[in-house]
Amino acid sequence: MNPVMLITGAGRGIGAATARLAAREGYTVAINYRRDHHAAESVVEAIHQAGGQAIAIPADVASDAGIQTLFETVDAKLGRLDALVNNAGVVDANCRLEDMDFARIERMMRINVAGPMICAREAVRRMSTRHGGHGGTIINVSSAAARLGGADEYVDYAASKGAIDSLTRGLAREVAGDGIRVNGVRPGVIRTTIHASANNPHKVELAGQRIPLGRIGDPEEIASAILWLSGSGFSTGSIIDVDGGV
Ligand code: NAP
Repeated sequence: MNPVMLITGAGRGIGAATARLAAREGYTVAINYRRDHHAAESVVEAIHQAGGQAIAIPADVASDAGIQTLFETVDAKLGRLDALVNNAGVVDANCRLEDMDFARIERMMRINVAGPMICAREAVRRMSTRHGGHGGTIINVSSAAARLGGADEYVDYAASKGAIDSLTRGLAREVAGDGIRVNGVRPGVIRTTIHASANNPHKVELAGQRIPLGRIGDPEEIASAILWLSGSGFSTGSIIDVDGGV
């Protein structure tokens, strides 16, 4: 029986690239998305055509009910869970802190922090040997912004990813004895639609000029780090920077 990897936000971008690579490496993949049914179904279709196994599951990971639905669907349809990739996340339009309202910061923290924490909780409840599980792995997708701070752009986003790094380090130690490894990836600017969706379509071109390697990254370059961490049995609490050297 194939190991099962659940990837949140896998209809597009980094999550979709991770799903395609995971399927090639022998995982059955649960592809979570929020709204874009067509995008998620085309990732499933591409995996099936390449001989892999995948299902798509719509659920909002910014809500407790959505996360319950997501994990119960994995239980019912796939019967096991071996890996969680906490990937779904959002940015917002460039804005200084003094101009941010409560609603913006609350939305950011619900999607980027509360969602991944509750998803990790559900994964631990299923995978932990303490609860009768067989162990497993969690990979959290952070951002170089957690190190850099996002000044004049989005300190709320940077702070949300700083929280993800703390989650990675703390949870890794908490569940190391329960058969679960927890690691993280900090991407730099990657060619996806996240920037356009935050009303910042030119970020990718402008950012390339500031990156020491002289270009932005591709989603597949993050996917390979995620899959490496997933299989690296002696890594836990590690956070890999894949950011072109910023
Ligand atoms: P993306 O292209 O915008 O794709 C986002 C995916 O997440 C979509 O599948 C979307 O679903 C899903 N999603 C968003 N909110 C959701 C929610 N509440 N519940 C469930 N799914 C949700 O994003 P990306 O650029 O690949 O980013 C993926 C991760 O990498 C994020 O955590 C981001 O912060 C991080 N990251 C990205 C970059 C970059 O430059 N791209 C850099 C550093 C870190 P729908 O398609 O249904 O909307």
